Amino acid sequence: MVVTVYMSADVRRALGPFGVAQAEREAQTTDCVMCSHRVETRQDVNVQVVRDPLGNLSVWFTHPDCLPSRLVEGATTVAPAPQGDDMRMTALPPRTGHGLPILAAQLVRPVFTKPEEQGGELTEVLAPYLLSQGFAMLGELDSTPPHLEQWIAVLIAPPGPDAGTARLLILDPDASQLFAGVICTPADWCRHALAQGQAALYVGDAGLDPTSPGAHQQHERLDHAARQGRLLAATISVIER
Ligand SMILES: [Zn+2]
Repeated sequence: MVVTVYMSADVRRALGPFGVAQAEREAQTTDCVMCSHRVETRQDVNVQVVRDPLGNLSVWFTHPDCLPSRLVEGATTVAPAPQGDDMRMTALPPRTGHGLPILAAQLVRPVFTKPEEQGGELTEVLAPYLLSQGFAMLGELDSTPPHLEQWIAVLIAPPGPDAGTARLLILDPDASQLFAGVICTPADWCRHALAQGQAALYVGDAGLDPTSPGAHQQHERLDHAARQGRLLAATISVIER
């Protein structure tokens, strides 16, 4: 382990032995939920656990200076799906291989749940849902992800191909929002995406910076995350509104 993980005694009790081991693994590649900055290699990280009235646990990570490790008894039930502001979206130009414009989504606050029984494994909330929808883990960036026609990215009035930003909405087949927000768009990204009518959507933690102009470095990070099995992917439709 390169990141040193701290948990209070009540956090350890709530997580149980499997949960503690899993949280230690997850903490190695994470952002801080308080300041949104990366927890860098050789930094320390604190584990927060929120327990909802049904006994589900959400596990969050913070820098030591941002929040101490603690167990919080939540008043409301853990949301089954992430809210839009819990997700950061990076738009990247096509790489080699499938040649589709790329959208890469990462959760700022990964949510895990754990059944009340002691020893139960923490379950990440988003991945099982995406897999059930047809997203696939490809292990590399070049092959075309499965096409999920009913998943739609809506570009809202992109002001021009070189404007640098666009409003984006990503909807699942039930019209629930996976993401709603403003994205930074590389030159010609919107035009390409609309001309092809498709984009490759990757979901998972790749340590990307949505505002970075360095597409090559971001591609490399995404490819690295794919090879580590940290990404789920689909080809989704892109339309303009
Ligand atoms: Zn922080």
